[in-house]
Amino acid sequence: MNKFEIIRKILENAQNIKFYKDLYQNKGVQIENIRSIEDFKTIPFVSKESVMGEMLHVEDEETTFTRATSGTSGRMSIFHRSKKDREIHLDNFRTSANGYFTKDNRVMIIFPPDLSFIFSGYFSAVGCEVCFGDVYDLNYSANLINETKVDTLRTTPMIALKIGKILKRKNYKCEIINIILSGSMLSLLTRGALNDYYPEAKIIQNYGLAETGLIGWQCPEIHGTNSYHIFEDTYLYEIIDSETKKGSNSGELVISNLWVGSSSTLIRYKTGDHIEKSNKNCKRTKHGSIITFRGRYRFDVLKLKGLTLYKDLFEKALLTVTDYITDTYQLHLYEEEKNDKILPQLILKVIPKEGTDKKIGRAIVERRIMSSFMITPKYTFKDGVDKGLFLPIKVEFVDNLKTGRVKTQDIIDHRG
Ligand SMILES: [Zn+2]
Repeated sequence: MNKFEIIRKILENAQNIKFYKDLYQNKGVQIENIRSIEDFKTIPFVSKESVMGEMLHVEDEETTFTRATSGTSGRMSIFHRSKKDREIHLDNFRTSANGYFTKDNRVMIIFPPDLSFIFSGYFSAVGCEVCFGDVYDLNYSANLINETKVDTLRTTPMIALKIGKILKRKNYKCEIINIILSGSMLSLLTRGALNDYYPEAKIIQNYGLAETGLIGWQCPEIHGTNSYHIFEDTYLYEIIDSETKKGSNSGELVISNLWVGSSSTLIRYKTGDHIEKSNKNCKRTKHGSIITFRGRYRFDVLKLKGLTLYKDLFEKALLTVTDYITDTYQLHLYEEEKNDKILPQLILKVIPKEGTDKKIGRAIVERRIMSSFMITPKYTFKDGVDKGLFLPIKVEFVDNLKTGRVKTQDIIDHRG
């Protein structure tokens, strides 16, 4: 079957899924009128909120695994996996593993149990020796790394950093050669800190979502960046401009499954991720197109006064002050009234490096960040302040930052 024939089949099956049947009926979509991929692009989008709690499979679909994630709204999202889903995910995983690890590698997985279970299946299928770290006891995990001589870590950036700190403190010899991370974007700051803790390790990012599985991978030519190859045979990738809702080179990633028999059928699913088509080329043409991840809309991309501020550019600015600050931060966004205008106020909370002078250090950090944070290719944040668009960034030195156990949120928007 070609791509369109598969899409037709998926749409026909969707008539037996109450969620899609109701949606298409309400929006007046007639599946028989969808005769090309172009027609398909008129089908309504679905969002995380709209699919939450919905069964996205045909009743007799064979479901073998169920995964839950706590949504940002506090409600749980449940996603099912059929046998076919897991076969597809495993194939994609094998592609992503190529060139990094084989059956000879010893892997430690440090995640909450449901994810550890999924990942262990993948690594076992490749033939690796697998062990589990304890996501709730990183001291134990570090000891285990030391005892078992694992060489590959599969975890999140934050946990890899914490483990690195512990390994260093305990003077353990670090034999890690691969760190495979979930987290679609790695800041230069975190990347630098990871390189310090794990000097021998290749840092490989896997781009995946709970609702889809793996959707982007890095071959050895693009590892160490925030760019990914995509799985064009298993997903239809669309990049949608937020204003025009049409295809674009930069915008929200919208994804559709390209296989029949899924327990979690996604048809034009808005991922909430901001990506760009990359003009980079990989020497191995069969690897296909490359996309660059720019951030999650809710967390990494800030809209301020008609401008889009990107977390990665902010973190570039942070690199100018690494003599004064340690490797984690939180950026809080408030609004303040000044001269009868409501203006955005950014407050950066950081842990200073030992020996940093509280007053002078803070002033230097504030000044440097504002003059090196590019808000457009030509304007710095400081230019924006001078034009009266924002209030100056305030820096607060703190003793510690409140972080979650597994995921961190670096940018916190307090505007209503
Ligand atoms: Zn490649």
